[in-house]
Amino acid sequence: MVNFGKLKKFMEIPETAEMLLSQPEKETTLSINLKVGPNKMLIYKGYIVYHNVVLGPAKGGVRFAANVTLAETRTLAELMTHKCALMGLPFGGGKSSIAFDPKSVSEFERRSLIKEYAHMLRDDLATGAYIPAPDMGSTPSDMAIIYGETHHPESVTGKPPRLGGLPGRREATGRGVSTVTTSACRQVLGKEVKDTTIAIQGCGNVGSYTASFLFEKGAKIVALSDVSGGLYSPKGLPITQILDFIQQGKLISEYQDENLQKIKNEALLELPVEILIPAAIEDVLTKNNANKISAKLIIEAANGPTTPEADEILNQKEVVIIPDILANSGGVVASYVEWRNAKSGNQTSAEETYQFIDSKVESAFKEVLRLTKERKANFRNAAYILSVSELMAAMRERSWI
Ligand code: NAD
Repeated sequence: MVNFGKLKKFMEIPETAEMLLSQPEKETTLSINLKVGPNKMLIYKGYIVYHNVVLGPAKGGVRFAANVTLAETRTLAELMTHKCALMGLPFGGGKSSIAFDPKSVSEFERRSLIKEYAHMLRDDLATGAYIPAPDMGSTPSDMAIIYGETHHPESVTGKPPRLGGLPGRREATGRGVSTVTTSACRQVLGKEVKDTTIAIQGCGNVGSYTASFLFEKGAKIVALSDVSGGLYSPKGLPITQILDFIQQGKLISEYQDENLQKIKNEALLELPVEILIPAAIEDVLTKNNANKISAKLIIEAANGPTTPEADEILNQKEVVIIPDILANSGGVVASYVEWRNAKSGNQTSAEETYQFIDSKVESAFKEVLRLTKERKANFRNAAYILSVSELMAAMRERSWI
């Protein structure tokens, strides 16, 4: 979340701009009701937040998680506002969520729930006011169900490629994380990724492709986890085998290799590595463990993995944090290409998607790095200086401020 108090030390922010960027433009709580039999009704809570849409329609993933809240959805929508502004995309910040555990419902119930969600959002999906994509818990098949309800390919991104999706979209966030890790490694640690040790928390969509791309570049990934726990080997993990195992729908804790040590997620964060990549959930770096972090460079692949207190402590320890709005922007960059292709009828290859992500992420990284030096700001503040400047310029052009 933007800390305006800190940012105002670096730039002028008129009160009107701060007011508009401090609260969402629109929030809706849904009651998604499924009649599943005579006298039997299942009711799920859903949340939609449009944080700021000065740059374009609200763009942001749909999260499926049992304990998701309106507050969490709001924070994620705010991050999207700044991510899109930083990456120069014509989108505003949005997010939606449905409070259910995707692992505990039947396929039929899941499909019915998504259809009902799309039905309740039909006006905004039809006009393009909100464009969903996958986020934690949701998949390309879920996006295909939304597309099935709207019939407009540009109404949702992250679809499977044969249904108007983009080759390379599934890998996109991990691709961007690996690209930014490579650049940050050179600039901050003064070495190539192949000469570093890396721990990655989470191996869902983001964590697994991050691991795969970094492993391809020769990085030594010494630890990887999922919700069930993690694996650790100071010599480096057999990433290809582990990822193949996970792709069969298995948990990391079930992986058998006597040369690898089983560790808890909390322990993974504190390992003696040079680079730490939290790629699972928010708020994992806290005031309780910040002092125990050994990594010199943290790449925020997940949204909001660092609490403000931990951010403070890690900054004092001179740990460099590449913020989420830069580190995990590859997904929304690819979503932009998918949306643009849906409108124009263009088709692009996975390789073209990767190149587009790399060029966008690398140029944003360079701009942020330049500002860290010019303004003596850390990477998070520098990224927000850029996003807030872009948003303020757009708000002025639209006479909002
Ligand atoms: P996912 O559902 O595909 O994977 C989540 C991973 O986190 C899984 O490996 C899961 O086992 C693990 N996990 C869940 N709870 C955990 C816990 N308590 N401790 C440790 N691990 C846990 O989700 P994803 O799409 O990979 O998203 C991960 C993060 O990246 C989220 O913060 C999401 O908002 C962010 N993100 C995702 C995308 C995208 O394109 N999917 C884009 C930008 C940001």
